[in-house]
Amino acid sequence: MKMQTKAHYKSEIPEKKKEAHRRTNLRRGSLIPAVPRFGGNNGHDNHDATGIKAYAAQSAAASLGPFAIRRREVGSLDVQIEILYCGVCHSDLHMVRNEWEQTVYPCVPGHEIVGRVTKVGRGVKKFKEGDLAGVGCIVDSCRTCSSCQSGLEQYCEHDPVQTYNSKDTHLGGVNYGGYSKSIVVDEAFVLRVSDKLNLAAVAPLLCAGITTYSPLRHWKLGEGKKVGIVGLGGLGHMAVKFARSFGAHVVLFTTSPEKGADAIRLGAHEVVVSKDQVQMNQHLNSFDFILDAVSAEHDINAYLNLLKVDGTLTLVGLPQKPLGIAAFNLIGHRRQFAGSMIGGIAETQEMLDYCADHGIVSDVELISMDHVNEAYEQMLKGQVKYRFVIDMESL
Ligand code: NAP
Ligand code: ZN
Ligand code: ZN
Repeated sequence: MKMQTKAHYKSEIPEKKKEAHRRTNLRRGSLIPAVPRFGGNNGHDNHDATGIKAYAAQSAAASLGPFAIRRREVGSLDVQIEILYCGVCHSDLHMVRNEWEQTVYPCVPGHEIVGRVTKVGRGVKKFKEGDLAGVGCIVDSCRTCSSCQSGLEQYCEHDPVQTYNSKDTHLGGVNYGGYSKSIVVDEAFVLRVSDKLNLAAVAPLLCAGITTYSPLRHWKLGEGKKVGIVGLGGLGHMAVKFARSFGAHVVLFTTSPEKGADAIRLGAHEVVVSKDQVQMNQHLNSFDFILDAVSAEHDINAYLNLLKVDGTLTLVGLPQKPLGIAAFNLIGHRRQFAGSMIGGIAETQEMLDYCADHGIVSDVELISMDHVNEAYEQMLKGQVKYRFVIDMESL
């Protein structure tokens, strides 16, 4: 997730409108119990899409709870998707707790979305009602800048519209993510999903999958390359699977020795417990590439020292605090320190197709919506194997 400039979108509906919506929903018998208030569209009427069930955080200190949102009406290029599964990314937790100091509340997170198309606009070509579909971390971009023209919408020079906590360019206010029953997205940002794979296990590919696939492809990692993956979480376990599938020699670094057997099962050739200096020293100056997928503060220098001449350490993890880099660890071996954010739409489709062809999915634990707060705590303790996915039927 890209850091955005701090913005405060007006997300409250005027009292009169709120009351009108409440009454409309009461008449339809569709008012959701225990929903604190409507979020959303700054007063636009949107009669066929009111009161969609969702889960939101109302502040950085609050747990997520039931909430009702609106989605825009289906425009001519739009696809409406009934969300079946949504993965729980550590970015959701960072954002819900305002760890990047940019969160607008109420916040409905979720950007690992898989579902079924329920309606398409007149001009939609790629999808029809009943198709499976996926939505990842971005739902729009300027489409004209050089990044967008090169299929790098995630690096749009005018900032991509992220799936949640971005400005809602249709309804105003802030937009809402996948911890909800449905979503409406322009077909250009909707992905085709194969019916060959377990759908719940496909959901995490929309963020954890593409975020690890993209840098491994960009730096051309495959046969003959020694690749390190730091952290066996949602992203890390996908990185291990992809790096192995691309033919690299894969070494997994973990702070959790008990994950070693899983790492080997997932595809690692070797496992290094990063707290063990003797094990770390055995790999000094030897890696072509290391992908760092750690969510919290840690010593990046310990990994820079493991790169050989011209080796690259790429950061995908987004810890709250800045990481300190010792200059000598970079200049000594002409090492490179880089970053990477998700992937473009075409590459995300390529990744999903690659996964369908090679039978690659995420290892998931299916949870109900009301388990999500507990799931966040478990994720913080590293107690997830290796991605929680919400079964939206439970919402
Ligand atoms: P996750 O499932 O919680 O995994 C993070 C892993 O980091 C843990 O499993 C743990 O692995 C390791 N770890 C946690 N705390 C640590 C500490 N204090 N010191 C060392 N290692 C620690 O999280 P995730 O969903 O994979 O996301 C990882 C990070 O990537 C998050 O910061 C997230 O926001 C970011 N992210 C970035 C992008 C992007 O586009 N760049 C996209 C999605 C997510 P071990 O137990 O094996 O040590
Ligand atoms: Zn994510
Ligand atoms: Zn652009």
